[in-house]
Amino acid sequence: MFMPMELVKAVTLCEVGPRDGLQNEKKLLSVEEKLELIEAVADAGFPVIEVGSFVHPKAVPQMANTDEVFRRLHRKEAVQYRALIANLKGVERAVACGCNKVKLNVSASKAHNIANLNRTPAETVSGFRTCVDAARAEGVEISGSISMAFGSPWDREIPLADVKEIVDAYIAAGVTELSLSDASGQAYPTQVYQICTEMARAYPQVTWWLHFHNTRGLGIANIMAGMQAGFTRFDSAFAGVGGCPFVPGAAGNVATEDVVHLCDEIGVATGVDLDGTMAVSRRLVQLLGHSTDSYLLRAGKSKDLILELPVKQHSRS
Ligand code: ZN
Repeated sequence: MFMPMELVKAVTLCEVGPRDGLQNEKKLLSVEEKLELIEAVADAGFPVIEVGSFVHPKAVPQMANTDEVFRRLHRKEAVQYRALIANLKGVERAVACGCNKVKLNVSASKAHNIANLNRTPAETVSGFRTCVDAARAEGVEISGSISMAFGSPWDREIPLADVKEIVDAYIAAGVTELSLSDASGQAYPTQVYQICTEMARAYPQVTWWLHFHNTRGLGIANIMAGMQAGFTRFDSAFAGVGGCPFVPGAAGNVATEDVVHLCDEIGVATGVDLDGTMAVSRRLVQLLGHSTDSYLLRAGKSKDLILELPVKQHSRS
């Protein structure tokens, strides 16, 4: 007898394209263009949107107008609009423009952290305490992410014990909403299942997110593995835009419309309208002026695929 696959009933998707996607594009989008996209994403039903980042404008010029985007955004009550920050200055900018949800990030790579910051990832996270306190004092929610959690181009492997040390440091700093991120596109489904299962067991107090880049075509498979481990929060980027400046050949996040399509097909509720999502992604492609890694934009929805068979002429002569 066949048993149905065990899956979660519903998931929460965060559209990270306006930040993770656009920060890797050569073309800088204007405030008006970003507002059009972000408001269309909200209209399509996304409960969470990563609008931009408050980092140094010289480091990431694509995100320099994030403050103005937040100021002019017509916000929906039910939508959470978040931004990435790197330090206390980021919290101050968030407060000044009315952003009430921020996310910190650390790379799980010890080699990368020590080379760049001369400290371990866990030590970097301990230094976030001032950001967490400042955010809390201003009523700004704060979450954290761990990039390279599934593999890193600078280390042979990332031991799970190292990732746990970072999680412990986040919890000690007062952050219990955490994202495991695969910026280098090295995660694979059995590993994702194993790590997620263990993390859920070890840290029941943590609200987990997963963030997969589709560099080697495993993004959707990794999301499925996360769902099978009971995880319900996933990032994706419209049209699959994005990359990672340090990683050769890095692709964007798994395309949002591909994830929504997957969920529609397997009966997992997202609250997101697939047609609305595809319309936003098409508009984005138009604004950027180049095609992207999106299966749905290329092939359309499975359910729309009804081809007319050619009528055969049967002649029996
Ligand atoms: Zn990313």
